[in-house]
Amino acid sequence: MNRVIEKHIRFVLEDDNEALSAGLIGDSDEENKRMNRALIKRHEGILAKLDDGETFSQADLQLIRDANEIHVNDGANLNGHHRQAVKLDRWLDHRMELDKDKAMQILEQWLDRDARTPARVYRALHTLWEEATPNDVVAEAAFDDDGRCLTCGSKVSFADVTDTVVFVGNEIVKRYDGDIASRNCVRCNHPKVYPEFEHYDEDGGSSVRANRHP
Ligand SMILES: [Zn+2]
Repeated sequence: MNRVIEKHIRFVLEDDNEALSAGLIGDSDEENKRMNRALIKRHEGILAKLDDGETFSQADLQLIRDANEIHVNDGANLNGHHRQAVKLDRWLDHRMELDKDKAMQILEQWLDRDARTPARVYRALHTLWEEATPNDVVAEAAFDDDGRCLTCGSKVSFADVTDTVVFVGNEIVKRYDGDIASRNCVRCNHPKVYPEFEHYDEDGGSSVRANRHP
């Protein structure tokens, strides 16, 4: 990885962690503090990946982009990192997956810049969009590579696993491991039972996925 990029990634994550840590002092509400702590941990995870030369997940890249945004927007360069931030932003553009919504948005924005863009170009774009998304259903991943919910970052999920078991009489004599048929974030979808599992998110929770077949 380019040294300037690497150095700047470290800077934005550490800088953001400092701000988040400052938010833990005082009497801001507990939910905010919990989210700050979770984000600090995720940033630390990304820094560790950087140390070990591991590749980033798409969710990691998004968090890097989020932390970098304040410096990209700092056009007056008051914090002294604007140039590096823009460079990192371009670097991220090459690595981050683009979903159809975002691709559409980017194309429309660029077409809007030219007042002479004919209406049929927009029509063509929308036709392609409709072809690409039959029934308006866009299948999107709900979890990142580390099994974290893309909405809230929690690692705890309920999954239905379709194992095939062989019964002899009432006794199971063989089990074929199946696939996950559906998987739902517990914090997002079952908030009432989430407190029971919350500690997995707090102490790293690396054993959660290993216990899929208890
Ligand atoms: Zn969630």
